[in-house]
Amino acid sequence: MNTEELKQLMREAGIVGAGGAGFPSYAKLAPGADTLLINGSECEPLLYTDYMLLKKELPAVVEGAAAVLEALSVPRALLCIKQRTAGRLRLKDGEKLAPSVTVKLLPDVYPMGDELNLIYETTGRTVKPGGLPISAGVIVYNAETVYNIAMAVKKQRKVTRKWLTIGGDIPEAIVVEVPVGTPVSDLFAKYSVTIPEGSVVIDGGPSMGKIIDPERAVVTKTTKGLLILPETAEAVQSKLLDPASSVTRAETACCQCTRCTDLCPRALLGYPIEPHKLVRTAKGAKKLLPELILSATLCCGCGICSSIACCQGISPKAVIDGCKTALAERKLRFRSDSAPRVSPEREYRMLPEERWEQALGVAKFDKIPVFRGDDADFARVEIPLGPGVPGKPAVQDGAHVERGDKIAESAEGLSVPQHASIGGTVTLAAGKIIIERTRSEKE
Ligand code: SF4
Ligand code: SF4
Repeated sequence: MNTEELKQLMREAGIVGAGGAGFPSYAKLAPGADTLLINGSECEPLLYTDYMLLKKELPAVVEGAAAVLEALSVPRALLCIKQRTAGRLRLKDGEKLAPSVTVKLLPDVYPMGDELNLIYETTGRTVKPGGLPISAGVIVYNAETVYNIAMAVKKQRKVTRKWLTIGGDIPEAIVVEVPVGTPVSDLFAKYSVTIPEGSVVIDGGPSMGKIIDPERAVVTKTTKGLLILPETAEAVQSKLLDPASSVTRAETACCQCTRCTDLCPRALLGYPIEPHKLVRTAKGAKKLLPELILSATLCCGCGICSSIACCQGISPKAVIDGCKTALAERKLRFRSDSAPRVSPEREYRMLPEERWEQALGVAKFDKIPVFRGDDADFARVEIPLGPGVPGKPAVQDGAHVERGDKIAESAEGLSVPQHASIGGTVTLAAGKIIIERTRSEKE
């Protein structure tokens, strides 16, 4: 299979990045790479989705990687996993999983899953500010994305299932593989997950994830975890902060100690981002210092500056998030041709995972999960027409579909089609397609 054929296959299978913003994966298949990084670093605490996928499906992940290497004539792939994951999977640094696929161990620090930190840690290369990994000769895919590539190549299977961790303040953490579009409320009912009084549900990790309404949210192609956490945990408190009061606090309480910049993993990697300066100029700088504000787009959103660095209770991340939103609306981002110069302090300032869990107030909820199902039956799914540019429905209201049938076309530009994740009857709704099994199908 050549590059164009694999691209076409991946697009038609609806493959998007399974571990991040849902970027269509075919678009990363560009010439110039000499290394494929399979990101199994599982950056955030309490998430064990990639660990479980690798435990159960490692040969398929290796096959997916081999398909990419062959199609692009890339000589090597590195399976990037943290030391603690490697110990649990009994894998060793440098171990060959296939002639061109090797295990690469990462330190147990946060945020090792950040693409730019991952590239530096595994290859010693840096990406210029605003550049793409391919400019450093690297393609990065999440482990589940590579698994989905293998399923598309081997079995012509579309992306209709999602692996995710359900964890946090519940008796038993579990990993499940369920249909895309499954309502979170149905998922919790199926696995007897209850939400204690005074707790919230987070889609994603404790630091970078978002609080969701479990009565309205559904599993998407990018859902890596659903965490039930008490509102009192620092990880949740930082999400409940009012952005306006964050700015006020930043302007009045910041002593300019620079600790947020000293510990920022992107700054340590040599990127020109200085959260203490963005905090100092929280209100006034948008008009005065465009270069400074643009540097906000170099932030990976890890939250270290807010949850562990600042001793004044300030959230530089909240201030930076505000800048990023304004810049995204104007399609502005920081670009530079200067290669970052990695700080000699970096290796001494990286944040150990245990320390990070404690800072977020989630260490006591960290449990190794059990795998609880890839055969669960759900009667209803709501499949979003995204992520990315939403396509048009490819089915009529009331149509009957089988699992794997195309239900939405890809749109112009970066987009993939969507497929039915269960068989049933279609209802078209704003921004999504609902599929429900009829009574006879349930029986
Ligand atoms: S969230 Fe804070 S520490 Fe993390 S990359 Fe952004 S500015 Fe740096
Ligand atoms: S760590 Fe806090 S007090 Fe220090 S410069 Fe950053 S925002 Fe200001």
